[in-house]
Amino acid sequence: MLYDLIIIGGGPAGVAAGIYAARQNLNTLLIAKSFGGQMTRKSVDIENYPGFEKISGLDLMQKFEKHLRKNKIDIEIDSVSKVEKVSGGFYVSATSGKQFQSKAVIVTSGADPRPLEVPGEKEFIGKGVSYCTACDGPLFGDKEVAVVGGGNSGFEAAISLHSYAKKVYILEFSPQIKADEINQKLAQKYDIEVITNAAIKEIKGKDFVDSVIYQDRKSQKLITLNVQGVFVEIGSQPATSFAKDLVEFSEKDEIKIDPKNNMTKTPGLFAAGDVTDVRWKQIVIAAGEGCKAALSAYEYIINHG
Ligand SMILES: Cc1cc2nc3c(=O)[nH]c(=O)nc-3n(C[C@H](O)[C@H](O)[C@H](O)COP(=O)(O)OP(=O)(O)OC[C@H]3O[C@@H](n4cnc5c(N)ncnc54)[C@H](O)[C@@H]3O)c2cc1C
Repeated sequence: MLYDLIIIGGGPAGVAAGIYAARQNLNTLLIAKSFGGQMTRKSVDIENYPGFEKISGLDLMQKFEKHLRKNKIDIEIDSVSKVEKVSGGFYVSATSGKQFQSKAVIVTSGADPRPLEVPGEKEFIGKGVSYCTACDGPLFGDKEVAVVGGGNSGFEAAISLHSYAKKVYILEFSPQIKADEINQKLAQKYDIEVITNAAIKEIKGKDFVDSVIYQDRKSQKLITLNVQGVFVEIGSQPATSFAKDLVEFSEKDEIKIDPKNNMTKTPGLFAAGDVTDVRWKQIVIAAGEGCKAALSAYEYIINHG
């Protein structure tokens, strides 16, 4: 079947694009690995999305998904592996082997956690190495864990982990902590141990993680910290691999868009939210950008048949 529009991603940008596309009567398919995106990765509350003074990322995302499903839209839970430009539109392939066709595409695939890229990291994913406190935090009851990254994300992860784990460390590469004062105060209150100047060298274990080795960048000494969990919180990288031949990238590997209409360098291929070079990365912005992209795609489809 030839869709008018395929939306890739089920975070705030993709859901908003889906609602707007359906309301424009576009025959639309939304493909997402899962609903939620980044805001479901941690059990932090969201306090800056209008209409909700305080709501958990999971609850807000469930509301988004419910709202989307009220509309006439096809939904596939799958991972997109390739987008190709063909005559009259696009082919979108998924890892399941399915292939879909549409006149226009909106990429809203957000960002994936940035990996540490040290020995042991890949090997122990799901065996002590995690990128999602909300998902895996409860598995570390009474264990000792390290959070790598001393920004707000790292501190928020550590603060939520302290309610399960026996001991929580934060390991930060730089000499200074960049997290907000309020997060630093909470970490102090919960006895979270913050170690600066720590360059992670290796994650070790047998079947599961039993330690992380870091180099103290001042003394150059290698130090072993006995922990059973390592939570990586060193930022994110745009999830763009499937579209790389069709778009231009910023120096941060974000998809470059025309800020007026969210179009990429390929006519008919739009992008919105954290995957793009939009200046600020926030839920309300991603939702607004998704809306802009859907309305622009509608205009494009009307004008290009
Ligand atoms: C821990 C944390 C806390 C945050 N707290 C706040 C906050 O309090 N307030 C705020 O405004 N913002 C917050 N943010 C930022 C906010 O979450 C993001 O700006 C927002 O989620 C971006 O939405 P998005 O739709 O662009 O991308 P994402 O939320 O990243 O969603 C991407 C979607 O694409 C899907 N996807 C990815 N690759 C593929 C593929 N190949 N095929 C199919 N689907 C794919 C994913 O499964 C997901 O559904 C926070 C972020 C983090 C990490």
